Amino acid sequence: MLAQRVNLVPDSGTAAAREAAEMAAAAGRRLIDLAAGEVIIEPPTSVREGAIAAINAGTNRYTDSIGLTSLRKAIAEKMSADTGIDWNTDEIVITAGAKQGLLDAALAVFDPADEVIIIRPCWPTFPAQVLLAGAKPVFVEARPPTYVPEITAIRAAVTPRTKAIIINSPNNPTGAVYDRTTLQAIGDLAINYQLWIVSDECYSSFVFTGARHQSIVMAHPGVRSRTILVNAFSKELAITGWRLGYFLAPPEIVSAVKKLQSHTTSNPNVIAQHAILRHLQFGDGSFERAMHQRLSLARNAGLLILSGLHDVATPGANGSFFFYLDLSRFVAGLPANSCVRSADDIARLLLDEADVACVAGTTFGDVNGLRLSFGAPPDLMESGLRRVVETLNSLKTRQAAA
Ligand code: PLP
Repeated sequence: MLAQRVNLVPDSGTAAAREAAEMAAAAGRRLIDLAAGEVIIEPPTSVREGAIAAINAGTNRYTDSIGLTSLRKAIAEKMSADTGIDWNTDEIVITAGAKQGLLDAALAVFDPADEVIIIRPCWPTFPAQVLLAGAKPVFVEARPPTYVPEITAIRAAVTPRTKAIIINSPNNPTGAVYDRTTLQAIGDLAINYQLWIVSDECYSSFVFTGARHQSIVMAHPGVRSRTILVNAFSKELAITGWRLGYFLAPPEIVSAVKKLQSHTTSNPNVIAQHAILRHLQFGDGSFERAMHQRLSLARNAGLLILSGLHDVATPGANGSFFFYLDLSRFVAGLPANSCVRSADDIARLLLDEADVACVAGTTFGDVNGLRLSFGAPPDLMESGLRRVVETLNSLKTRQAAA
């Protein structure tokens, strides 16, 4: 008999999409995978050398549960440079990826019966972790074309039980990048209603609007004492499987999480910690620049291809590395007898007919969306998107003729 909490959370839709793509590939199909939430590229040399050096030095022991002090210090320096705000080592926790940082935040801050505001479409782990902490997710819809939430809608969702708001800019899945005014308004609201802000900024390196990433603590320095700013090296350095992330938070949260991590994972992987330390000490930024350049070119090429879609607006894709299509007009325009009625049906159709894997918006709490990654190898991404455009554009004609 399983514990009830297991039934609180669904299977991960993004993991299911990844598994479906892997199974199709194992069955010999030449599938183009635009479902993955990672950039397909080799990690930086400095990271690999750091890991090898740590292994060769015989590094094998537990570290402090919230990570090596030297790495926490290096992250404080990096974040001070990135945000223009001074961060101290005692405000940094190293985690096993952003996911553990977010779970730490949920366990440290949410009590049963607390309400936590989440902007939807959203990465499904946010509500899952809120539920695991015994609290209640309260959704606020962010609508196309911008997918930036209206501050009035957020305010309307606040009740005396609201404990926190989770934001994610640049956003997975929508690619939205929240403007400074929105971030300031969210900050004001958090102060007025005494809420915690959990700000997942793990796509901070991927902003394509010409501006630099704007953290909520930069837009509104007054919220620093109530913000848990979660980040990771997973996406930035293309090391999703290495599991290394971090968060910045007031020292009271750091002490609480030190206790939690000591009873859960003991410490983040020591080899990965040394590898990142080496990168922060000796990396020259060329990997990050090349990665940004590659994604920026891929985004431009992809947007051009997607502009050929009929009845689907070209997505914003201002940040992260996802094209997020709003299929509502497209689906509504299909013949009444069509067997394709939803974004889920379209994701299935693309997998079956076009050999392209993508993630339907239902995974993110949005029946109309479709997420396509531009982190795939550029030539494959372009072929995949061409297949998407051909398949969708011909669907209406085929269905009408059927
Ligand atoms: N936060 C968001 C918004 C994500 O999209 C992801 C991964 O897809 C994560 C966190 C998890 O990051 P990590 O692999 O560092 O745990």
